Amino acid sequence: MKVLVVGNGGREHALAWKLLQSQHIRQVICIPGNGGTATTERCQNVSLRVDDFEGMARFALVQNVTLVVVGPELPLSLGITDYFQQHNPNLMVFGPTQEGAQIESSKYWAKSLMQEAGIPTPRCEIFTNAQAAIDYVTAQGAPIVVKADGLAAGKGVTVAATVEEAKAAVESLFKSGLTPVVIEECVTGEEVSVLALTDGLTVRPLLPAQDHKRIGEGDTGENTGGMGVYAPAPIATPALMERIEQEILQPTVDALRQRGIDYRGVLYAGLMITPQGDPMVLEFNCRFGDPETQAILPLLETPLDELLLACTQQRLAQFPPIAWKSGAAACVVAAAQGYPGAYPKGQVITGIEQAEQLGATVFQAGTQLKQQQLLTDGGRVLGVTATGDTLALAIAGAYKAIDLIQFEGMYYRKDIGHRAIKSDSS
Ligand code: ATP
Repeated sequence: MKVLVVGNGGREHALAWKLLQSQHIRQVICIPGNGGTATTERCQNVSLRVDDFEGMARFALVQNVTLVVVGPELPLSLGITDYFQQHNPNLMVFGPTQEGAQIESSKYWAKSLMQEAGIPTPRCEIFTNAQAAIDYVTAQGAPIVVKADGLAAGKGVTVAATVEEAKAAVESLFKSGLTPVVIEECVTGEEVSVLALTDGLTVRPLLPAQDHKRIGEGDTGENTGGMGVYAPAPIATPALMERIEQEILQPTVDALRQRGIDYRGVLYAGLMITPQGDPMVLEFNCRFGDPETQAILPLLETPLDELLLACTQQRLAQFPPIAWKSGAAACVVAAAQGYPGAYPKGQVITGIEQAEQLGATVFQAGTQLKQQQLLTDGGRVLGVTATGDTLALAIAGAYKAIDLIQFEGMYYRKDIGHRAIKSDSS
């Protein structure tokens, strides 16, 4: 079987890498892919834009592709699944329709769905008028959270410590046209990402993962796409995972179905575990997480293609329980100097082979192969993942491996997993 993976990040490299381990997969084609997905005869890149649905549909037809796995939210929110369903109905697409993708592309839409389904989430209001939003934050007081309703590439959220900061965030969103604006109650606790696969009826949670969104150690500085992750996150105990499935994931899929949405793909819940130990939904995403995928998939034993096909063919209820390797995985992201601000491209990357000789897997993100040379081509360049019998061993393995990799200005956080390690030793 031939599979098309849409996207060009570390997540897509991890998806391609895992799919290629399955005996049923003849070839994975990444659109547009990166330096890590252009390496073998069985894994190739095709240079098309992720919103060129017509080009992709034509390519998939000519190449006899069986399954399309969509990585990023943008093509889902633009209706890639709907397009394929209309123009190439024999093709199976893993990822929700445009209507379903609203769970990520409109925070307010997701909130009203959660309210309907009785899913715990911070209180919020939506505003299309800047002055009304400012009056509201003034009346509510700080801390308070200001969010762009739509997709803003991780840059639309301000957790404001003061009313002044909240007002500035509101003004800046209205000024840049990122409206409507959602204003949300600020909650505290520890965050965890729980990704689940669903066929629109049944949900199957994957291992819980904990991302590190800030650029600086100790979770300081600017927000990024994610600087490192580990799985399974010990905060999500089996008892809590059971609650998350019963109280959040299944009711969400049921509520989507009640709205007439046949949601087949990943339902990703970004959760806050409150100091009382209760899960609350901060956001939903409609796709695999990046970098969560880079830590989750190395632990997956069930063939990924079989799982994804069970979702697209709506037979997840009959599918055997997902099998996992024991132990843990940690992924440390190597970023370009200056990220998440401006950064240079085209720096030569060395040491990947040596890192992999230690047993690590290096998922490439912002890279490109140019005349057989691997060069940096983005902000988050690599995700170095190691597995181990314990989380501490996995983290140590990832750091040993990343130490062997070099490119000019390479930056990575030295404290990935700090929370879990702390709670382990306490
Ligand atoms: P992502 O890049 O994960 O898609 P996003 O831009 O869609 O992010 P959210 O996940 O909603 O935005 O928020 C980003 C971060 O802001 C969260 O991970 C969390 O740390 C913080 N945050 C969001 N909502 C709240 C809240 N109500 N209370 C406290 N912190 C919050």
